[in-house]
Amino acid sequence: IFITFEGPDGSGKTTQIKLLEKYFKKKGYDILVTREPGGTDISEQIRNIILDKKNIEMHKITEALLYAASRAQHVAQIIKPALLEGKVIICDRFVDSSLVYQGIGRELGIEFIKRINDMATEGTEPDITFLMKISPQFGLKRKFSTDECNRLDMEKIEFHNRVYEGYLRLEDLYPERIIGIDAVKSIEEIHGDITRIIDEKIKL
Ligand code: C5P
Ligand code: MG
Repeated sequence: IFITFEGPDGSGKTTQIKLLEKYFKKKGYDILVTREPGGTDISEQIRNIILDKKNIEMHKITEALLYAASRAQHVAQIIKPALLEGKVIICDRFVDSSLVYQGIGRELGIEFIKRINDMATEGTEPDITFLMKISPQFGLKRKFSTDECNRLDMEKIEFHNRVYEGYLRLEDLYPERIIGIDAVKSIEEIHGDITRIIDEKIKL
């Protein structure tokens, strides 16, 4: 089973993934938690290139291709083999992030991003995607107080609003796969909502 988490920066994806990992472990599942961009040595090296140079001289097409390249390695080396072994995989961000950040935020277009990512994933798609729904203003504020602030957080709020609207569009486009989660609630409440959906969808 392949589960992904999506949502704006500071929407609580990482926190919820840790809780869900514990939940699956307690039930005796073989679970693999990973993240994008990253998840393999090569993919993490690509991540460093993307995040270092971001907003300086990197062209947006270069950036989109690097995200896809990082993902290609991650899918081939980690995700596909784990799926074949019957593991539960939880991934912090996946193709949907590229669709909204690069496709909509950076205005490269959904179709272009889809095309390069189809090549990268070779058809590997999440079974369930939890979309953490919280306004970007609120999420960024939360991230500022918990994470050390990095350059990415300073990106214009308008960019993040566009990205968020992109997420809402994806939720409409793929209602079977993408499940919206009210990420304004408390950590415990959100975890409860997620596990309830997991129990419904997967016979644990
Ligand atoms: O998920 P995480 O917070 O580690 O993501 C790192 C940063 O990269 C975030 O600030 C996010 O806005 C950005 N990002 C991006 N395009 C993606 C994935 C992440 O701009 N496809
Ligand atoms: Mg995170």
